[in-house]
This record gives sequence, C-alpha cells and structure tokens, in this order.
Amino acid sequence: MGKCVCIIAEFRHGAFRRVSYEVASEGKRLADAMGVGLCAVAVGSGVADKAAELGRYGVDKVYVVDDPALENYLAESYVPAMADVVAKCDPSAVILPASVDGKDFSARLAARLKAGLAQDCIQVVCENGRIKAKRPIFAGKCFGWCEWAEGALPVISCRPNVMDCFAPAEDKKAEVEKVEVSIAPARSSVKSMDFDTSGKVELTEAEIIISGGRGMKGPENYALLEDMARVLGAAVGASRAAVDSGWRPHSDQVGQTGKVVNPNLYIAVGISGAIQHLAGMGSSKFIVAVNKDAEAPIFSKADYGVVEDLFNFVPAFTEEIKKLKSSCS
Ligand SMILES: Cc1cc2nc3c(=O)[nH]c(=O)nc-3n(C[C@H](O)[C@H](O)[C@H](O)COP(=O)(O)OP(=O)(O)OC[C@H]3O[C@@H](n4cnc5c(N)ncnc54)[C@H](O)[C@@H]3O)c2cc1C
Repeated sequence: MGKCVCIIAEFRHGAFRRVSYEVASEGKRLADAMGVGLCAVAVGSGVADKAAELGRYGVDKVYVVDDPALENYLAESYVPAMADVVAKCDPSAVILPASVDGKDFSARLAARLKAGLAQDCIQVVCENGRIKAKRPIFAGKCFGWCEWAEGALPVISCRPNVMDCFAPAEDKKAEVEKVEVSIAPARSSVKSMDFDTSGKVELTEAEIIISGGRGMKGPENYALLEDMARVLGAAVGASRAAVDSGWRPHSDQVGQTGKVVNPNLYIAVGISGAIQHLAGMGSSKFIVAVNKDAEAPIFSKADYGVVEDLFNFVPAFTEEIKKLKSSCS
C-alpha cells in the first residue's frame, strides 16, 4: 500500500476551482478510512501562494509545480509534471476532478502511471482495505462499482457537484513543498482565451438549473426562463432539441453529448425526458418537471411534476416567487 491518498487540485486563473475542494473532501474521507494522510498535487502559474488553503479541506501536504509556462492548461505540459509529482507521493489512490480539463488529463495521467482509471465517479469507499468507486453506466441507467486488481493503482475522477464538500476549517493550513520539474516544450500553445463576461453561472457549478426543451417553441421564449433564473439565482440550460434548432448555444446543452450537471434543483421545462437527456441531469438532488403531457417520461424521474402549459405556468410561478421575495425583504 502507498503512503497516502493523493488528489489533483485544479487551479485556473488565480484560484482553485470549487471541484478541487470536493475532491479534497472525498480524498480526506478515503484517507481516514485507510488510516493514511492526504496530499495534493497542484500545477499552474501562481499556485504556490494559494496552495496552503487546501488544508481547510483536509489536505496535509501540497506539492506544487509553479511555473509561468503553466498559465493556461495544456495537457502536453501539465500531465508529465503531474505524473512526476504523483509518483513522488507514492499514493494508494489518486483522486481528481471529472471536470472538462480533468476528463482530458485523467486518462493521460493514468496511462503514464500505468494505473487503472475509473472515470466520472460519484462515490469512493474503502471496504476491508479495498478501494471501490461507484460510477454511472449505460448513460446513467444504472450504477456499477469498480475495483482494482491487487497492486494496481486506482485513479478515480469524481463528477463535479456530487461529493459532499467539508465546511472549510479556516484555521487549517497545508504544508506546501515546491517541486522543480522540467516543463516539456509543448508542440501547441494557447494564443488567447475568450472568457464569458456575461456573468452567467456555469452550468456544472450551478445550485439551480432551469432547462428548456423543444416545448419552448422558439429562442425568444427563453426570456421566460431567464427571468425565472434571475429570481431564483439559477443557470439556464437546454435539451439537445433546443440546441440543434439553434435556439441555444451548445455550451448550454445538458445530456449525454452535452454537460453532466448535478444541481440541488433541476427544473425541466418542455423537455420530454429522453434517456440521453436524463444521462446529464438524472443525479440532480431534486428534479421538477413542467410538461403539458402527463405521460412524458420525465415525470418518472421527477420528484415534483407540473402538468400544465409552460406558457401559463412559468410566468405565473416567477411572479409568485417575486412576490414572496419582496414580502420577505
Ligand atoms: C447519440 C445521441 C445523443 C444525444 N444527446 C443528447 C443530449 O446530450 N441532450 C439531450 O437533451 N438530448 C440528446 N439527444 C436527443 C434526445 O434523444 C432527444 O431527442 C432530446 O432530448 C429531446 O429534446 P426535448 O425533450 O426538448 O424535445 P421533445 O422530445 O420533442 O419534447 C418536448 C416536450 O415538450 C412538451 N411540450 C410541448 N409544448 C409544451 C408546452 N406548451 N408546455 C409544456 N410542455 C410542452 C412536450 O409534451 C414534450 O414532452 C441525443 C440523441 C442521440 C441519438
């Protein structure tokens, strides 16, 4: 058995992404169950100054590779650096985010470490000394448990917004060790990045998502969902039918070929509930469906269902919430 559980903390543009804290919390639960320590590997530019804060989520020691050449994520330069440092930690398991970048680097990292990868997991446990990871299979229709052969190193990527995150222990700081590794010259480079400056909540990190489907009838009607989203502090998503019709950008698509989301509340409006859509939102904590067809499959997945024409329901519901909020303020 290795010396610790090791997490990969994702650091982008001056800050750790929230999913890094979720991964640290899950890593800490696993490390405690195994009776070992928790270390983290953080790669990026300017990461050394921030690394100690991972201690608030249970990390004992952070190994950092801090280099201006690592300002923008690029698998070619990140993965060799990560692999060198992870090997130095001699871990029993590696846990990392199944974020967009995480899905890209986890397979490369596992290959370099000659490890076994379980992708997009929702739970990690240690039973009788053996690590097991639970993950959705068959587009989320059922769940499978992955186990590793004796002596194989588990590399486990965790779905964002699923793992319970510890309340930060403000007084705790992790030990930080800077590691010098030679950054491999990359064959490609990031020339520029365009950030979304609209202030929209990123779907994969949203607590509440309201998604609209073909039932919205046209792009102009999404104003109804945006109004409701403003009142609830939600992000707006879409089904593939809406995206394929050109009503919403692909970045809004939820589902098998879009984003996998896990908000506390998912409101599906005018969405039938095809299996490919459920694959992207089926693990949301609460699901509410608004559909005029009482037989729509989405209702079999929903915790609450509203059988009603959305054009009647959505504006009336938004008005009621506005009234409630103003009476509370
Ligand atoms: C390989 C593959 C990958 C796919 N990936 C995805 C994916 O990532 N995401 C995804 O979403 N889909 C995906 N799909 C498509 C998926 O199969 C469905 O076609 C799609 O999800 C349907 O979208 P929808 O529910 O908006 O439309 P529909 O199935 O047409 O449903 C529209 C719903 O709106 C309701 N409605 C209509 N008018 C109103 C009204 N006025 N008030 C209330 N309700 C109303 C109807 O009753 C109906 O239930 C994929 C398909 C394939 C083959």
